[in-house]
Amino acid sequence: MSTVTHYQVHDNIALITMDAPPVNGLGKHLRRALLEGFEKACADDQVAGIVIASAGKLFSGGADIKEFGTTDPLAEPSLPQLLNALEISTKPVVAAIDGQALGGGLELALACDYRFASPRARFGLPEVHLGLLPGAGGTQRLPRIADVPLALEMIVSGKPIGVDKALQARLVDRRSKYSDKDENGAENAFTEAALDYARELVETEAPLRDCAEIPVDTSALPENFFSDFRRSIARRSRGLFAPECCIQAVEAACQLPLTEGLQKERALFAACMDTPQARAQQHLFFAERAATKVPGIDPQCPRRKITTVAVIGSGTMGGGIAMNFLNAGFKTTILDLNADALERGVGVIRKNYEISAKKGKLTAAQLEARMDALKTTTTYDDIKDVDLVIEAVFENMEIKKKVFQTLDQVCKPGAILASNTSTLDVNEIAAATSRPQDVIGLHFFSPANVMRLLEIVRGEATADDVIVTCIDMAQKIKKLPVVVGVCFGFVGNRMLGPYGREACRLVLEGATPAQIDKVLYDFGMAMGYLSMCDLAGIDVGFLVREGIREQLAIDPSYEKIADELYHLGRYGQKTGRGFYIYEGREKHEDPEVAELAAKTAAELGIERRQISDEEILERTIFMLINEGAQILDEGIANRSSDCDLVYCNGYGFPIGRGGPMQYADEIGLDKVLDSINKYRRELGDYGELWFKPAPLLEKLVAEGKRFKDYQVQA
Ligand code: NAD
Repeated sequence: MSTVTHYQVHDNIALITMDAPPVNGLGKHLRRALLEGFEKACADDQVAGIVIASAGKLFSGGADIKEFGTTDPLAEPSLPQLLNALEISTKPVVAAIDGQALGGGLELALACDYRFASPRARFGLPEVHLGLLPGAGGTQRLPRIADVPLALEMIVSGKPIGVDKALQARLVDRRSKYSDKDENGAENAFTEAALDYARELVETEAPLRDCAEIPVDTSALPENFFSDFRRSIARRSRGLFAPECCIQAVEAACQLPLTEGLQKERALFAACMDTPQARAQQHLFFAERAATKVPGIDPQCPRRKITTVAVIGSGTMGGGIAMNFLNAGFKTTILDLNADALERGVGVIRKNYEISAKKGKLTAAQLEARMDALKTTTTYDDIKDVDLVIEAVFENMEIKKKVFQTLDQVCKPGAILASNTSTLDVNEIAAATSRPQDVIGLHFFSPANVMRLLEIVRGEATADDVIVTCIDMAQKIKKLPVVVGVCFGFVGNRMLGPYGREACRLVLEGATPAQIDKVLYDFGMAMGYLSMCDLAGIDVGFLVREGIREQLAIDPSYEKIADELYHLGRYGQKTGRGFYIYEGREKHEDPEVAELAAKTAAELGIERRQISDEEILERTIFMLINEGAQILDEGIANRSSDCDLVYCNGYGFPIGRGGPMQYADEIGLDKVLDSINKYRRELGDYGELWFKPAPLLEKLVAEGKRFKDYQVQA
């Protein structure tokens, strides 16, 4: 029969086992094989019940991602056709779920009459993360089988739930204590139990369930349920199309019979499909998978073992970094030469955990277990045996070099020595040791216990196994690793340079901070650049520029307005004044900033004028893109999608646009290039100085290509 399913009959029960590695993706071959198995079971008089189960670790991961962007999802039977056939089966069909049932995988389970699940089972509809909604009945069947609030939450958030919650919500009919996929479990105990369950259903003549006959229970829904829900997600779904479509689909389930609801779901699915937003979100999905592959490094390269970790420095970053490791169960030691700073740092960690515990995200026992796994010291000798050290001391080359020299003397051979520097040269730090092959940059973002992005900075000498070990380790602590090369600011902060330069220059040319930030916010950025400066601290940006003053001397206007604010002691939110005035959390425009801008512009001979929103958007975002092209050309980023991951996960770039490079691909690189050339002409000497198109951008436009088509050579 087929190679992607196995068909067996056990007494009077047919067992159809999906076996399409790696995730039982519901591509056309598996759909066809499932339908054939089902029809065979229906036609066999010996068979009274059917169990659909899975080989491999998952029940099913849903749609086959290899089919994305092809016409294969339409190949018959389509998933909706297969599921409709299962739904009207005249013999009871049981989904035996051992592992994850995601997307189409969960929709498959929902079309069965009964769901039998192992303790490992998880259920989720993550389509919203791809800019879509579940398109094979999920939005119509889930509210009928479970309740509306749970269905809505699962569909709109895309977050999976575990078996206990699923059982409580009647999404699962029976929970087995067995799993076939536990290493220690008895072989086939779960499948045997699923077959027994199917036999029991047959013997007790349990009713067949057709969702068409299950009304959605709306009686317990509070008044204004949907409008309140919309309001509750407004912030996190700002600018996104799919969440609203998900809500409309569930609303339809509450109002329409199943067949009409399914039609409405199809229409909403079609409206999401093939839109720039869905393309952007799917691009990010594939980008995450691509990011772990590093050109020139064998993915099978053996890893170094990491079980113990030390963090040097217990400040803002050190504490947050340590929390990631404690959360993931690593024994962690924090070293700080200043005992008071150490005590303060540990206090902050405990306080953060207490806040999580108060919110119910952590039990008291978990909190204590994490604090117990944390050791502190002021002595390097105490960390001589650790597998990984992450340095997070002051951003100063001399101090960092001293720390690495000490680490070189005390740490065991083979230990990975990492720096969390944001801007300093990792090669120079590595050269301070006798083992540069063990040195790497691990650039966490603030707050380090929250932000998902981790730039893994590959030095000239960094060994391949150190890089792959750090990628694996990043995934263990739930970070998103992106491997980058050494340059000032790596990928994220380097690209930020031209973006910030333009935002500050536009203030001098006549735009207000509020106008600039509104344009960027309306584009979808989490916040405008100038609000971001106020949040991060005007003093922090000033100190970074101090480190590269010589390079900036070519442009006396370079972030000059921010320098002026610094000299006035306006450090942003922390001092109540920066580009804006702050009263608590409220932010107001500051007329003095406009006066300061006018004065500074006059001193620099910059003519002030009315600036259009279009110019603000193009000068900031296109310069960000142009720098992305340049670092791609230099090999600092391995692929344009890595720049996108950095921007969407570290800098608040809207996921609905898929990152700056994807946005450029979407609108056309020629438009970006034309616009840069236009400002080069229009902005006089300033334009001539900064608006130089990256050669790679020009090359790709000349070849009619996109960033996506560009491959960095290994
Ligand atoms: P911080 O000033 O909050 O903390 C630095 C800590 O290091 C202090 O507790 C200090 O006592 C300790 N320290 C200084 N010299 C030491 C030494 N020789 N040995 C041991 N401990 C020492 O600084 P931070 O904001 O946590 O930044 C730390 C590093 O992380 C810097 O390299 C910075 O560039 C980088 N970084 C910061 C951010 C951010 O947003 N704050 C983001 C990414 C990276």
